[in-house]
Amino acid sequence: MVIIMRPEATLENIAEVKKVIESAGLEAKIMEGAQQKIVGVIGDKTKLVSVAIDALPGVESSVAISKSYKLASREFHPQNTVIDVGGVKIGGGVPVVMAGPCAVESREQLFEAADIVKAGGAQFLRGGAYKPRTSPYSFQGLEIEGLKYLAEARERTGLKIITEVTTVEGIAPVAEYSDILQIGARNMQNFGLLKEVGKCGKPVMLKRGLAATIDEWLNAAEYIMNAGMPDVILCERGIRTYETYTRNTLDMSAVAAVKHLSHLPIIVDPSHGTGKWRMIKPMAFAAIAAGADGLMMEVHPNPAKALSDGSQSLTKEHYLDLMNGVKKLAEFMRAENLNPIVLD
Ligand code: PEP
Ligand code: MN
Repeated sequence: MVIIMRPEATLENIAEVKKVIESAGLEAKIMEGAQQKIVGVIGDKTKLVSVAIDALPGVESSVAISKSYKLASREFHPQNTVIDVGGVKIGGGVPVVMAGPCAVESREQLFEAADIVKAGGAQFLRGGAYKPRTSPYSFQGLEIEGLKYLAEARERTGLKIITEVTTVEGIAPVAEYSDILQIGARNMQNFGLLKEVGKCGKPVMLKRGLAATIDEWLNAAEYIMNAGMPDVILCERGIRTYETYTRNTLDMSAVAAVKHLSHLPIIVDPSHGTGKWRMIKPMAFAAIAAGADGLMMEVHPNPAKALSDGSQSLTKEHYLDLMNGVKKLAEFMRAENLNPIVLD
């Protein structure tokens, strides 16, 4: 951290700032500028959280140099994190695919979707049993019954399960039935939920909030990691902008930004990212080309009859076609050694 003193700051003001820093166990280095003095703080600035540096007499402003997130940062963990979910590696260079309906609607619907998902070669079946819907009158999910169908679908197909948890009380049942717990966009900054989900012992996929900056998103990941769970997968699912043609604006640049800032794997969700099934394939290809570690997509046996998000769900035919292309693209990139991630 660097503290910029006001031009009229007195020697007493500077001595006071130095004292505050040193009494927090940190080192203070005073630098003389032409107009102003600057105080450099050396050491872990989290030790200063309870001190309002900017409120001390003579202080103009303070600027953080290192990131407020540490566990999630590449600065402190240069190697990519590879998450092993029962033998499926996320972040290991081969893109993973999580596909399935927006919501678990019935046993039949889920099993039909699972067979399609399996046939396309995805590793994970997705499906919400607890749905965070904008309207309280919309379908809210089958809850425990939905979780049981997901577990049955895993038995039938061998697919791993990812499903959303929306409340602290829901963590134990979701962790019992699911291989990865999903924190949805609307809960990205539900810090109480993040702290608890980090204690459940299973990997967590953290979707980017509707209007979250990358810094806020990585700090949210830090909450989960700080609570004890190092296996966090980030998911870019589009953010709110002034554009209305698409449901959200899929921020593909987040893949490159996150790869630079963090060692955590990042996957892209072009279904929620666009809201339009026709845009899923081009955005899925773009995500793989950009270096994403995987994809999350909505697939429904009959999107026209879906209880939620039918317009952004792929039919069997479109899903199989997309998966064929994604596999070829990923294989081509591997064979040609085309790694888009620039780390140095
Ligand atoms: C979902 O994946 O089912 C979902 C609700 O997505 P998001 O949290 O990104 O809106
Ligand atoms: Mn959905």
